[in-house]
Amino acid sequence: MSIAANLTELKKELSRLNVTLIAVSKTKTKEEILEAYQAGQKVFGENHVQELVEKYEQLPKDIQWHLIGHLQTNKVKYIAPFVSLIHSVDSLKLLKEIDKQAKKNDRVIDCLLQIYIADEETKFGLGFDEAIDLLRSEDIYSLKNVRIVGVMGIASNTENPKQIKEEFYELRTFFEGLKQSFFRNESSFKEISMGMSGDYKIAIEQGSTMIRVGSSIFGKRVIPHWRIQNNPAEEN
Ligand SMILES: *Cc1c(COP(=O)(O)O)cnc(C)c1O
Repeated sequence: MSIAANLTELKKELSRLNVTLIAVSKTKTKEEILEAYQAGQKVFGENHVQELVEKYEQLPKDIQWHLIGHLQTNKVKYIAPFVSLIHSVDSLKLLKEIDKQAKKNDRVIDCLLQIYIADEETKFGLGFDEAIDLLRSEDIYSLKNVRIVGVMGIASNTENPKQIKEEFYELRTFFEGLKQSFFRNESSFKEISMGMSGDYKIAIEQGSTMIRVGSSIFGKRVIPHWRIQNNPAEEN
């Protein structure tokens, strides 16, 4: 099916649900993104800063760009002028840098805390305790140019739907706890970004408010050679 047809199908599935669809366009071309854009999709997610900046510069300005991949502190400045949501905040240091760069751009940047829910070594994110420590830190009250609007998580890459369900359930429960403890009076704290092509149905059942879907819209990704040569830990 075409990109437009895939999108239409997915949107039909999501209609009447309160779930934001983020079209994950990493490795995809300008033309492919434009096809989705012309089919009505306005929110796109990328996981590399350089690729995100290039696409932002070349594509229509009413696109909302989300950063969904690991973010290095020294790269924040490149996306601070335009990014609409950063899904991958995993340290206080990073949050402080986002605040600093947002201030320079005279804006407030919305962020999600990325929470580690998978039973894999390789995924980035905060443990439950680390997230709570971050929110308890004194410093956080001085950060006026970031707004934490929820959490994000990536489930284990497994064929076992029960495990995925449990991981998403944990994230949802953790979100509710944070809401009670830290954001009781903040209606903006409402997002749970969970679910990708392979597991978004389970994620929605478990209360996801944002799904990040790439291959089900754009087809399989081919990893560019320059990225295979890089150390994945150094990516971005
Ligand atoms: C690539 C990516 C996605 C989308 O993955 P698909 O399986 O293609 O839907 C979602 N979230 C993150 C963080 C990603 O890096």
